Order: sequence, then structure tokens, then C-alpha cells
Amino acid sequence: MEFETADIVIVGGGIAGLTLAKFLAEEGVNFILLEEHTDYFQKPCGEGVYPELAGYNFYDFYESKLGTERIIPETLISTKYGDVVLKIPVLMSNKYVIEKEIARQVTQKGGRIVLNSKVTGIKSVGDYVMIFPQNIRGKIIVGADGINSIVRKFIGVPRPSIGIASCGVCSHIKKSSDRCHVEMKKDVIPWGFSWFFPKSTGWNIGIGTTNPHYFKRNFKIFQERFPGVREWKMGIIPISKPVRSYGKNSILVGDAAAQVFASTGAGILSSMVCAKIASEILIKESRHDFRYRDLSIYEKKWKKKLYRTFVRSYIYYSTLFRTEYVSEYLFHVFLKIGCKIQSCI
Ligand SMILES: Cc1cc2nc3c(=O)[nH]c(=O)nc-3n(C[C@H](O)[C@H](O)[C@H](O)COP(=O)(O)OP(=O)(O)OC[C@H]3O[C@@H](n4cnc5c(N)ncnc54)[C@H](O)[C@@H]3O)c2cc1C
Repeated sequence: MEFETADIVIVGGGIAGLTLAKFLAEEGVNFILLEEHTDYFQKPCGEGVYPELAGYNFYDFYESKLGTERIIPETLISTKYGDVVLKIPVLMSNKYVIEKEIARQVTQKGGRIVLNSKVTGIKSVGDYVMIFPQNIRGKIIVGADGINSIVRKFIGVPRPSIGIASCGVCSHIKKSSDRCHVEMKKDVIPWGFSWFFPKSTGWNIGIGTTNPHYFKRNFKIFQERFPGVREWKMGIIPISKPVRSYGKNSILVGDAAAQVFASTGAGILSSMVCAKIASEILIKESRHDFRYRDLSIYEKKWKKKLYRTFVRSYIYYSTLFRTEYVSEYLFHVFLKIGCKIQSCI
């Protein structure tokens, strides 16, 4: 059987895979990115991005203004016992345009992206990783393939716990577009929240929870509240602490490694930060012709930057919703404290 060889094979062309590809392309590293869909951004997302994280700015990774909208300075969270303001800015975006633009930059810088190319099998043979059905032989494989990562299965890391969410676009909502809005009420949805993010052309609205039973029931009621949404898209979010993100010849980036803030489900900027760190390790490896392949350094580096924030967010999420289960009043008080000290991202 004929095999094509690439130094690095990236599986997945979401925000994590594309950001990594962009940095590798800039340094002339040999890679191929395989994306199963025929176009970008085929999954749902609230499209709100934290502009800053761990000393990085979104524009450190994204060299364009295309697809970026305005910064919303705060989020109003409504509970059964009143409103709480979270003063963390959110940059509203058009994620489809952003992913497409990064892909354009990747190819312009000489990187290779193949769409409509789903990876269904991975096998380790000596120092190489074989990718099927594409018949590609890689020195390193990167799993940027989201929550149901095939690369994570290959490494032998179990799937993290998940949340389920659905969202759509609505042209008009009776809320002030100067803020993002979130509802955290048991009768809207237990163990989760609904969101209303003002975009340049309408609102991105959605609802999610970590309990599938509640999702089924409460999503139906939410849908009926907003008949103006033409299409609802459902998706899965890792709601857990991050998982091990490397194997012998492999690393995981983004949702595949649960590099997401459990309390909000936000993972765009954190995936980009981890993709940047991954690129630095892989560029170094490439300069040494992949002789060392100590990919544990990748995990050490991203953990140094983000692990404490991820874990704090997870602990906050699990404590907050346990409190909601006991008393919505205590939940309100706890949320208020969390927003004040901003421990809720
Ligand atoms: C409903 C919802 C709302 C959200 N809202 C926000 C928000 O407002 N702000 C925020 O910061 N985060 C949000 N998130 C989280 C955020 O979208 C993700 O954390 C982030 O997009 C992760 O990017 P990724 O590239 O790791 O994964 P993904 O975006 O899932 O990309 C993975 C890619 O891999 C491809 N792929 C998968 N398997 C294969 C295969 N076998 N072969 C080839 N290709 C494959 C997929 O087609 C996909 O394109 C939300 C998530 C959901 C589900």
C-alpha cells in the first residue's frame, strides 16, 4: 500500500486545529490538516470570546478584524432572586468567518488543509502513526478533533464528562443589546443556563445543561419561547477538568483535551492559547528532526499557564450547581460572590 508522509498530521479543522496550523505554516513546518466536513464551523457555538486570557490577547492569535464584532463589557445574569452583573468583557464574533479566515491564512502561508476528509482509523507502526483511510504516515498526530476525538481514543484517554447545548439565531429579543444576558434558573434549566448574546445581525441564543434528562424537557420549552429561531443546532461541550493531552507520538488540543472553562463552557480562546503552546513545542521538535519527541513538555507548558484557572472553574461549576440543587437563594448569593471575585470563568 502506498503511504504519503507528513511530519505532523492535524485531525480537525476547528479553532484549535486551524490556529495550530497557522503557526506551523508560518515556520514552514511540514504538516497536513484533515477536516471531515466540506466547510468550516459546522457545530453550534455562542460565539462570545474572552478577549484576554493568561497574558494573551485574542489578536495575538488572530491577525485580522474579519468576523470580529464589538466588545460587550458585561453580562447580566438573572436568577430566581434577582440580577447579578459579571464584569468580564466578551468579544462577539462570527466564528464561521473567523475560522474561514484562519484557514485562508494557513494556505496562504503554504500550509495544507484537506476538507471532506474524515479520519476513521489510527495505528502506531514503529516510530510512525498511520492514518486511515487517507493512508498518511505521520511522525506526530495532533488531535484537534473535538469532544469525540478519535486521537484521544487512540492515546487511550477516556472521554471527559460532557454538557449538552443547543443554540440558534434570533433577529429580535426584548433585552438591552449593551450587555450579554444569561438566565440561571431551575425552571429555565437545572444544572445549566440559557444565554442571549447580542450580535451585529440579531442574537445568538441558546440553552445547555450537564444533565441530558433536563435538556430534553427544558429545551422544548425554551424553543417554544423563541419561535423566531429558524434553525437550532445541538452540540456537546466538555464539562470537566482537562484530561491528559499527550501520548508517545500524539498530542490533544482544544475540546479533545477538555481545555474548556467548565463553569461557562467557553473554550475558544483557551483552545487558541493551547494551540499556540503546542505550535512552539512542535516547531522545536521539527527543527531537531523529531529526534526527542518529548511531548510531555506540551502538557507541562499549558498547565503552567492555564491549569489552575481550568480547575478553579470546574470546582466553581460543581459547587455552584450543587448549591442550586439545595437552595436557589444560596445559589444566588454564591453566584454574586463568584462574580465579584470573578472566580466564575
Ligand atoms: C452550543 C455551544 C456553545 C458554545 N459557546 C461558546 C462561546 O460562546 N464561547 C466560547 O469560548 N466557547 C463556546 N463553546 C465552546 C467552543 O465552541 C469550543 O470549546 C471550541 O470551539 C473548541 O474548538 P476545537 O477546535 O477544539 O473543537 P471543534 O470546534 O469541535 O473542532 C473539531 C473539528 O474536528 C473535526 N473532526 C472531528 N472528528 C474528525 C475526524 N475523525 N476526522 C476529521 N475531522 C474531524 C470536526 O468536524 C471539527 O471541525 C460552545 C460550545 C457549544 C457546543
